[in-house]
Amino acid sequence: MKFNEKQATANLENLERIFTVPEDPSSTLGLIDNEISQNLVGFLTENIVACQQEIEDIETDFSDPVIPQDPKFVSAQTRFLLDKLVSKSVHTSSPSFVGHMTSALPTFMLPLSRIMIALNQNMVKVETSKAFTPMERQTIGMIHHLIYGREDEFYTRWMHDHHNCIGSFCSGGTIANITALWAARNHFLAPDGDFAGIGQDGLVAALQHYGYKGIAVLASERAHYSLAKSADILGIGRANIVTVETDRKQRVKTAELARRAKELKARGIMPFSVIGIAGTSETGSVDPLNELAEIAGDIGAMFHVDAAWGGPTLFSDKYRDILSGIEHADSVTIDAHKQLYVPMGAGMVVFKEPNLASSIEHHAEYVVRKGSKDIGSFSLEGSRSGMAMLVHSSLNIIGHKGYGILIDQGIEKARRFAELIKAQPDFALVSEPELNILTYRLVPEDLQQTLLDASEHEANQINEILNKLTKHIQKIQRARGKSFVSRTQLKPIEQHRYPVVVFRVVLANPLSTDEVLADILEEQRAIFAESSSQAIIAELDNIEPLTDVG
Ligand SMILES: *Cc1c(COP(=O)(O)O)cnc(C)c1O
Repeated sequence: MKFNEKQATANLENLERIFTVPEDPSSTLGLIDNEISQNLVGFLTENIVACQQEIEDIETDFSDPVIPQDPKFVSAQTRFLLDKLVSKSVHTSSPSFVGHMTSALPTFMLPLSRIMIALNQNMVKVETSKAFTPMERQTIGMIHHLIYGREDEFYTRWMHDHHNCIGSFCSGGTIANITALWAARNHFLAPDGDFAGIGQDGLVAALQHYGYKGIAVLASERAHYSLAKSADILGIGRANIVTVETDRKQRVKTAELARRAKELKARGIMPFSVIGIAGTSETGSVDPLNELAEIAGDIGAMFHVDAAWGGPTLFSDKYRDILSGIEHADSVTIDAHKQLYVPMGAGMVVFKEPNLASSIEHHAEYVVRKGSKDIGSFSLEGSRSGMAMLVHSSLNIIGHKGYGILIDQGIEKARRFAELIKAQPDFALVSEPELNILTYRLVPEDLQQTLLDASEHEANQINEILNKLTKHIQKIQRARGKSFVSRTQLKPIEQHRYPVVVFRVVLANPLSTDEVLADILEEQRAIFAESSSQAIIAELDNIEPLTDVG
């Protein structure tokens, strides 16, 4: 679309205007702003069109690397955005968008975000944040209390203590996990005699000083890939993230983990951190945290729990026991932009003991001076927004009980959906929901028994074809834009650990009803009936004889 527009001019007067004069309510941006404020759901539903356009085609609208010489009117840019960007974005808050961890936001987040952006505080330093610093520390304190429930004196003593920190606010689970492993690494390879610590002297000197061949992290094979990134950045090496097999319920096999720890130590590679996952990204399963805490203690490693997804389960009186043992963790990651329903860009790591983070403390003379109240000294990121204000607000507005209800309904909806899937003759549940995530696939009725009776060799071939089918159905469903489930790959014990592609459903949006979920199955069944799916399933006729050749 070409708009008949006047050319804006670059001059100081106009530039001053954009810093001072608000957009007129009747301007393009003003109108949209008003519509979003009055009717967000309507705006999103109307303006995000189900878009079958390939990403490569969309790239042509964003192909020019040259920054325009002349300025553009706000209205013109806004029209461009609506046409080329907003309309082709993803309706993450739709109740039938149940494939990812990003879902709907409470409507109060919009005006609150405006306040946060208007204030433009920088958390790195009290001089640019003032009240935001105690507010963020309290927010961290509240999450710490949710997990560890320490006595009042603990929080009175430590929450605002500027020499220590009981947690760190950051942009998400990845940075939180990096921060936790960073602290654990520095604690493990601490200053000792004339060795000034790994942070100062580096990894080579650290290994030499302590006489280790390497350091390692033990985690489940379901661990989030942010741990691999952490290992890369922290000089641990991705190969030294030792991933351990999971059981039928997708939880790490603890005996195997303990065995691997011993084996590593025997080779001079020191496991300095054991990681438990409280809600894996793929299946929502929770590792046996009490047992992992014990193993970590036995081998002298720190214990970190990645509760980026599942942490808020602690709000539920009914289900908080699923996370039993989390209170033994030296550090815990929680994402606020997942199940705390805060906009993207909010994560936290909390430390059980206030002194752990001192191993990662950094200071600079002009900013974050030693002894100041600045929190920049304990965080990986530098300049950081006042995002904690949104977490603080939703913790207050929704409250412990409100979050408890949200958690309960998600878990219970997942269980009902699992029952619904199991009741279908042509679907098979692959992982039971421990929290609010489950996986399943479509297995035609006549194939279900065949698969049970099949030899491993035959089952693998059937699974290969079913994998193609699952991918196909998922892609078509996504492209049609009515609903969205994601897909991932698991190695179920029942399928001889053959990699099996599954649909993955994440039930975080409280507006996703049982009906919406039932419709998703119907839509998948309808796609299966189409000729493109039938062509895939016809390949079953070509599979090799039913005898086990393996
Ligand atoms: C989402 C997630 C992460 C990463 O968090 P980001 O906010 O995406 O950086 C880490 N671990 C688990 C278990 C997660 O679910």
